[in-house]
Amino acid sequence: MYDVIIIGSGPAGLTAAIYTTRASLKTLLIAGVKWGGQLMLTTEVENFPGFPEGIMGPDLMMNMRKQAERFGAEIIGVDFLDGDFGKSPFKITAGGKTYESKSIIIGTGADTKWLGVDGEKEKIGRGVSSCAPCDAAFFRDKRVIVVGGGDSAMEEADVLTKFAKEIFVLHRRNSFRASQIMQDRVKNNPKIKFIFNSQITKILGEEKVSGVEIKDVKSEKTKKMLIDGVFVAIGHVPNTSVFKGIDLDEKGFIKVYNHTKTNFDGVFVAGDVHDSHYMQAVTAASFGCMAALDLEKWLREIR
Ligand code: NAP
Repeated sequence: MYDVIIIGSGPAGLTAAIYTTRASLKTLLIAGVKWGGQLMLTTEVENFPGFPEGIMGPDLMMNMRKQAERFGAEIIGVDFLDGDFGKSPFKITAGGKTYESKSIIIGTGADTKWLGVDGEKEKIGRGVSSCAPCDAAFFRDKRVIVVGGGDSAMEEADVLTKFAKEIFVLHRRNSFRASQIMQDRVKNNPKIKFIFNSQITKILGEEKVSGVEIKDVKSEKTKKMLIDGVFVAIGHVPNTSVFKGIDLDEKGFIKVYNHTKTNFDGVFVAGDVHDSHYMQAVTAASFGCMAALDLEKWLREIR
């Protein structure tokens, strides 16, 4: 019997584990087959406090993992399969085994949202990507297009300038929602051009991307453009479909009651899986801390 099972191994889950283990709670962390979350797909992280020179995303996650393990967190590299969240003790199935715990923290984060247009799905990894830090080097001296108007799109475009010859940022409206500093960085780079009020309607090419079909949302006219790569940066989808009975909001994120609680007593939530607003490593880590503190208090009260 564990005191707590944490599902998810991004900054939220690992920070929660640091707090629960330091509170002497027997902690199992279901990390997933691919552990570490979105930061494993990033290069330099410049805005996580405590690293004045920046730190590589995977290094930051490895540090968090080691810190949680140092205090006794048991971390298993399997995917969550099923859970009965009705009543404590909870039964959680993962990697073919069932585990029991007095409490739960869900910190499964959010994944890439894709465009859902013709020619996209089959070309993921063949010119379609959601991770410039991972794939930009494949586009040396090529023409690429980044879709989106938020910070992610600006960041993707900025990373691509190190390799690609020409970068187009395509956005469905005529103004970006990205922070000013990120917009300025991109707008001041001569390699980057902008296509506003437009949507990609089709990704062209047989084996790999050779172009895109673009629709002007005002005139409804479409045109084709020769392009070697498409980087999709239009937000994220929370990893919640596996959690039966947990209340979700209209966008599919877990609904929060009273700071970090879900609709089930003893089941807490932390990070991007419930937060579609901030979505920062540091905010996810903070939510992990909060969920662990709330859970610790809850366990004391039911004892
Ligand atoms: P976001 O802020 O939600 O922006 C998504 C963008 O994609 C929006 O411009 C949106 O258009 C567009 N979009 C959404 N669905 C679309 C669709 N189906 N077709 C075409 N365009 C679509 O997401 P994000 O950029 O991933 O950022 C998420 C959070 O992470 C934000 O809080 C951001 O600040 C943070 N973040 C921070 C950093 C950093 O500080 N280094 C880096 C990356 C992300 P509309 O504007 O018209 O809605």
